Amino acid sequence: MSDRKSHFIEQIIEEDIKSGMSPKSLRFRFPPEPNGYLHVGHIKAICVNFNLGALHNAPVNLRFDDTNPEMEEIQFVDAIKNDISWLGFKWDKECYASDYFQQLFEWSISLIEKGLAYIDSQTSEQIANQKGTPTQPGINSPFRNRTIDENKRLFLKMKDGNYQEGEHVLRAKIDMTSPNMLMRDPIMFRILKKPHLRTGNSWSIYPMYDWTHGQSDYIENISHSLCTLEFKPHRELYDWFLDALTPLKSIRPKQREFARLNLSYTVTSKRKLKKLIDQGHVKGWDDPRMPTISGLRKRGYTPESLKNFVKKAGVAKRENLIDVSLLEFCVRDHLNKVAPRVMAVVKPIKLTIKNYPQGKSETVIAENNPEDNMAGNREIPFSGELFIEKEDFRENANRKYFRLTLGKEVRLKNAYIIKGEKVIKSSDGTIDEIICSYDPLSKSGSGTEQSKRKVKGTLHWVTRQHSLPITINIYDRLFSVPEPDKNKEEDPALNINPNSLEVANGFIEPSVFNSPLGKHYQFQRLGYFILDSKNEKNQLVFNKTVGLRDSW
Ligand code: ATP
Ligand code: MG
Repeated sequence: MSDRKSHFIEQIIEEDIKSGMSPKSLRFRFPPEPNGYLHVGHIKAICVNFNLGALHNAPVNLRFDDTNPEMEEIQFVDAIKNDISWLGFKWDKECYASDYFQQLFEWSISLIEKGLAYIDSQTSEQIANQKGTPTQPGINSPFRNRTIDENKRLFLKMKDGNYQEGEHVLRAKIDMTSPNMLMRDPIMFRILKKPHLRTGNSWSIYPMYDWTHGQSDYIENISHSLCTLEFKPHRELYDWFLDALTPLKSIRPKQREFARLNLSYTVTSKRKLKKLIDQGHVKGWDDPRMPTISGLRKRGYTPESLKNFVKKAGVAKRENLIDVSLLEFCVRDHLNKVAPRVMAVVKPIKLTIKNYPQGKSETVIAENNPEDNMAGNREIPFSGELFIEKEDFRENANRKYFRLTLGKEVRLKNAYIIKGEKVIKSSDGTIDEIICSYDPLSKSGSGTEQSKRKVKGTLHWVTRQHSLPITINIYDRLFSVPEPDKNKEEDPALNINPNSLEVANGFIEPSVFNSPLGKHYQFQRLGYFILDSKNEKNQLVFNKTVGLRDSW
């Protein structure tokens, strides 16, 4: 093994191996509920499990935790599989908790027979009222001492669909005075007359999370069931349910917990993300402003950058808030190495070089990626009629302004040195066009004295004749406060940033003409962008991934 410092879950497993566990019996799982798309927090859980699998050459199952038929959909199953594959991970078996419904039903009967489970016929409200509080013990249900035969008879009738929702539940008979509220006779099965995405109408009772998860781990021979800290109090119940199945015939799974990933300016709860879609704040699960894997992909994030981010965020025992700028740093860092450079003008203004021969054009040479010496060069057309960035010109500028102004020189990247001469304005005073002169001997790379002259500013540009019109989606943070989900009761939509999307119309150099969708670029001086789609006019649409520097 490498000398990289291992995280505490890795250490737990090392300890288990030292104390006699065979490395061959290691097996992990990632267990999403198919009730929404995976988000950045899930990437952490995916990496923790799949990286452990890789480290120990152990299989990792993908298990759909599909016990809430009302919330779950096949489109979410498909999206989850697609996202994990895109990240570059391969699961061993594709499993579904619903494949274990019959087994869970049979184990429930055996718990009834051992006197460890009973049918409660109170309303959910009555049950809740008897639950007590963390400082006050609960009260036993009046149905707690039903006979085994009566419990069995009622449970079979529940299964056969003879009762309405809420009429009865199956509860574990544990301890209504336990300091752990979860141990106060938790519900194991409830009646739900809802079709299930996989089992259809076969079942009218469905198992609860706690009565499903550990048993699914046991069935699949999972050695370490890794989950987030909020499940820590569930561990006692996880173990109680396994004890209730004794004697166990195969490996006994262990639940171990690590801290969730919390990210600033971000909400990571499928339920709350769904609400943002339903309320129309974003266009869908894969909106590039969403922290979902599919949103991040459409925004231009790469699998490498996301996995590196999770690695940098670390696997900790305590909750913390990771700054979203770390996520942005990681994608910038990766794209800097791999994204070809191109020139695009996002908010254009016309620039005309008055002493450049009319009708003439030539080519200039540009480096594709100075960070990658295999990337080579390309030719870009140049002429006297250009677009530059509106923000790169000021009519009245002080001495510290190093972009274009009247009477001063700047370099057009890869091309010539130009000087601002005058502006042409429309009747309302806005500038329509900048007129410049150029120094014909100053061409970049020509080796002349003039080409070596130092000027303070370098601007990107495209020609009006050769460039392609593009649409650019420019995103800002979806939320305007660092912890939009801090107050769990409050609707995060209250903190939404109303200006999180700006659509601009610009121009790009012609070399991108035949690029495949999904290709990443650095627009020089502007940031990283991904070719997202073509619009109805067959023009290229780009999404801005991130700026060149942290602007926050
Ligand atoms: P959500 O509240 O978004 O629905 P969840 O925990 O209910 O999240 P699941 O589909 O049940 O979502 O989660 C699958 C796995 O991913 C679980 O093991 C869970 O602990 C883990 N997970 C979920 N959110 C995070 C997070 N923010 N950081 C790390 N792991 C997470
Ligand atoms: Mg969940």
